[in-house]
Amino acid sequence: MSSQPLLRPAILIVSDTAAADPSTDRAFPILKETFTQDGAGKWAEPIVEIVKDDILDIQRVVRSWTDNESSGSGAVNLVITTGGTGFARRDFTPEAISPLIHRHAPGIVHGMLAASFQVTPFAMMSRPVAGVRNKTIIVTLPGSPKGAKENLQAILKLLPHACLQAAGEDSRTAHAGGVKKLEKDAGVSAGAKGAEGMAATHDHSHSHSHHHHDHDHSHGHGGHSIPKAHTDPSQRPQSNDPRLGATARARSSPYPMLSVSDAVAKIIENSPQPVKELRDLTPDLVGYVIAEDIRAAEAVPAYPASIVDGYAVIVPDAKSPTHKDLPPIKGVFPVASVSHAQASSMPPPLEHGQIARITTGAPLPENANAVVMVEDTAIASLTDDKSEEATVEILTDEITVGENIRDPGSDIKLGEVILTKGTQISALGGEIGVLAAAGIQKVPVFRKPRVGVMSTGDEVTDISFQGPLTGGMIRDSNRPSLLSLLRGWNLCERDGVVDLNVARDTPNHELEEKIREAFRTKGLDIIITTGGVSMGELDLLKPTIERSLGGEVHFGRVSMKPGKPTTFASVPFKETESGERERKLIFGLPGNPASALVTANLFVLPCVQSMVGLDGKKGLERVKVMVQGRIKCDKERVEYHRVVVSVDAKDGRLVATSTGMQRSSRVGSLAAANALLVLPQRDGWLEDGGQCEALMMGMVHGF
Ligand code: AMP
Ligand code: MG
Repeated sequence: MSSQPLLRPAILIVSDTAAADPSTDRAFPILKETFTQDGAGKWAEPIVEIVKDDILDIQRVVRSWTDNESSGSGAVNLVITTGGTGFARRDFTPEAISPLIHRHAPGIVHGMLAASFQVTPFAMMSRPVAGVRNKTIIVTLPGSPKGAKENLQAILKLLPHACLQAAGEDSRTAHAGGVKKLEKDAGVSAGAKGAEGMAATHDHSHSHSHHHHDHDHSHGHGGHSIPKAHTDPSQRPQSNDPRLGATARARSSPYPMLSVSDAVAKIIENSPQPVKELRDLTPDLVGYVIAEDIRAAEAVPAYPASIVDGYAVIVPDAKSPTHKDLPPIKGVFPVASVSHAQASSMPPPLEHGQIARITTGAPLPENANAVVMVEDTAIASLTDDKSEEATVEILTDEITVGENIRDPGSDIKLGEVILTKGTQISALGGEIGVLAAAGIQKVPVFRKPRVGVMSTGDEVTDISFQGPLTGGMIRDSNRPSLLSLLRGWNLCERDGVVDLNVARDTPNHELEEKIREAFRTKGLDIIITTGGVSMGELDLLKPTIERSLGGEVHFGRVSMKPGKPTTFASVPFKETESGERERKLIFGLPGNPASALVTANLFVLPCVQSMVGLDGKKGLERVKVMVQGRIKCDKERVEYHRVVVSVDAKDGRLVATSTGMQRSSRVGSLAAANALLVLPQRDGWLEDGGQCEALMMGMVHGF
């Protein structure tokens, strides 16, 4: 034993207080002393770090100790955390550590709790976790220096053996001589009282398989046949570690099945808040949502303007003292000037008894108070050169003050709210028009996200490949179809729908590297992948997110058809320039092309809607339709059946017609489809002429 090199422990102090002022920490000196006094000379000097009670901080430091095998700095054998294991609002340590653990060690947890329990029933108030990440043992100790010390003492003697095994020592050699020898080497015995005794119940147990007999998977699908398992999930072994190979990995998904609405709620909850920015007013503003009420910077019109082509006149105004003696404006008048709609000048004022020719939209002479439309006039005489009218006869005496004039600010008042926060700028022109008219050049909007689209799978072949296809090759239809869908929404930045090509399933780390690289270099907020979320041994997305990217899978299964394995996750990410930490989102859509498009509509859309500030809007618009022809329902899952919704020529109602065979690989079921019929989860058929809800993906046909 003495020939063994010393084991390397690391201690992470998790405490807001100690992070602010390291001199307040008392745990480290005590734990360090425990390693020296009770460690039987097997431990090197512990390294130490202090972090706040913050999940990402905790994970970052622990990962730096456990994931650096290749960096050559030599892995740490044991990571001890202290603090954050209680029930206080900022006690997060077990939540930070749990997802990092590759293999859990409930025995260590049990040993610590049993030892503390001998001291105080408050042991129940600690929530420790323990296990192995890569080659390192991780154990969470309570924050009180006394509790931390007692817990460490309870397990310390047994840890060298566990550390060596985790680090890769051949277990046959380690176990030669049996448990008795192990106990002797560790300095513990099965009969020992108290903490050591509990910890020494060194149980090499294998996981028991419990045979529950749930009948949650009822039988019998209709329509085209659907893959169906005949065994019960509780009868299958569980692991999603790809390194364990095809034989040891989970054979049913360990992720709970969410309803579509719960899944959307989780997406909204984890989508970043909308961020304001100022953008130039251009036609590219389509799709943006106004981030604050916008007030007119200018009045429209800015001057009194004529509504018609005709003659500006001064009509007697009963309210004006200077107008008292004026005759009604009827008869023949000299044309003093001409006012066109032009930018350069204003027309001169009129003398009484003069009129001025004026075109639609042009400014009135300053003292004119009405416009007679050209239809109410006749030319009386021409100028000498016959090129212009000299006098014009006004044929009516009914012109009133203000007639045919748009007063300044009568279309848009200066400072009036022209668009309210939350308004989306449509492609129909109205919003851009009013902004332009009111002199708004920089528009406060919410930022649009940047979204990358990546296919996965060794068989997936770029569409540019010159055939013929060989072996299991398939054309990558998901990427072009998703890229076009995203562009069509107008909810992503103009150059922010990014083609990320294909990540192969082998070599091992390609998916991880491509995702990291894309987030790092392309300024993306979201990555959409397709494929690799089913149950095959090359379905790497979930393990890659959880194990390699330190991310969190918010859901990994949804009760819907198609699209059951749809996965949504977030990963921590460090912005390089600002140094600010943010989370990036990953949608792992199923590889089957129809599933990928349907799930993008149902799940990615609400996410980008929420990011661009469309907060009332969660997904596709729902309408009621009448179904033409009967359609089979699925009794286990809500089905999103692809249909064409059109307007019935006779009564103007919306009718839906199926696009035919709905198998999830058949992307053609979406060709010409403009809606998803939401088939209720039940037995039997939706009959011809029946009512159903549909989600509109595009415009209603017939308009
Ligand atoms: P997976 O989830 O990777 O097992 O993929 C499920 C099915 O979808 C397989 O038949 C894949 O070949 C197919 N698939 C995966 N990615 C694509 C893609 N980009 N375009 C078309 N089909 C795909
Ligand atoms: Mg695949």
